Amino acid sequence: MDKKWKEFAAANGLACEKNQCYGTLYGYQVSITMEVNSGLVYRVGVHANFGAHAKEVYDFLAVENKKKYKLRQVTAEDCGIYFVTTRLIGIVKHIDTLLRELAEYLKSLGVDGTACPYCGQEMTKSVLAQDNGGCFRAHEECLEQRLQSAVTVENMEAALPNNYWNGFAGALVGGLVGCAIFAILFMIGYVAFISSFLGAIAASFLYSRFGGKNNAVKIVIVSAVTFVMIIITFFVCYFVQVSVIMNEAGISGSPAAVFFQLLAEDADVQKEVWYNFALTVVFTGVGIAYNIVSLVRQQKKVSSQIKRVGQ
Ligand SMILES: [Zn+2]
Repeated sequence: MDKKWKEFAAANGLACEKNQCYGTLYGYQVSITMEVNSGLVYRVGVHANFGAHAKEVYDFLAVENKKKYKLRQVTAEDCGIYFVTTRLIGIVKHIDTLLRELAEYLKSLGVDGTACPYCGQEMTKSVLAQDNGGCFRAHEECLEQRLQSAVTVENMEAALPNNYWNGFAGALVGGLVGCAIFAILFMIGYVAFISSFLGAIAASFLYSRFGGKNNAVKIVIVSAVTFVMIIITFFVCYFVQVSVIMNEAGISGSPAAVFFQLLAEDADVQKEVWYNFALTVVFTGVGIAYNIVSLVRQQKKVSSQIKRVGQ
C-alpha cells in the first residue's frame, strides 16, 4: 500500500502490508486490499457475522447505496461481505466515510463486531485468518472447519464428469457466433477483427453452459476450436467473394483454386489477404489470451486462499 494508506493505517491502528490494510475500524473488522485486474481497484471486506441480517446488509450495499458509494461486485461470503469500489480520487476518505456509515448501520442492526465472523460467537481466543483475500481474526476451529468444507466442495466438483463432448459442442456453437459475425461484416465490406475476439469469448461461455467443466482441457478445446473456425471462415469468405466475381464474369471453375492462384500471382491480392489474415490471427490470439487469463483465474482453488496467517 502507498503512503496515504500507511498514514491512514497508522492513524487508525490498522496493520498495513504490501497490498492490504486490515484491523478493527469503527468497531468492525475490515480489510482493504489493492487489486490490479482490468485497472486498479480497492476490494473491501467487512468481516462480521451478520446472522439474520445478512440479506439486509447485502441490500444496503448492493442495492440502496450502490450508486452513492460507487460499488460493484458485492459478494456475501462465509467470513463477511466483500465489495469493490472503483473510485480513485479521494479514495482514502471515500472508503473511510463508507466504512463509518456502514458501521453505524451495522450497530443499528445490533451486529456484534467483536464476535467470530464465521460463527458469530464470542472470541476469547482467536487466530489471524485469511479467506478470500482479506485478513481478520477468527476462531481457529472455525477457520479449520471452513477450509475443510471448501476442500469437500472442491473434491465433489473434481469427481463430477468432465463432459468434454458437451463442452466441445458448446465451443462449436460459440465459435459459430464469431464466424457468423465475421461473415456478415465481411459481406458489407469489413474484415472485422473484433468478431474473432467475440467468438473466443462466446466459445468459452457456451463450453461451460453446455456442461463442460472449467479445467485445462477446456482451455485447449476452446482455444483450438475458436482458432480453427475463424481461420476457416476467413478463407471461406474469400472463396465466396471470388465465386461471386467469377459468376458475374461468367467464369467457371473452382473459386478456391482461383483464389489461391490469385494469392500466388497477384501482389495486390497478396498484400490485402495476408494483412487481413495477420490481423485476424492476432485478434483471435488476443481473444484466446483473454480467455486463458480469466479461466486460469477462475480455476484457482478457493481452499488455497483459506489459511492461517498469524497468531
Ligand atoms: Zn467461530
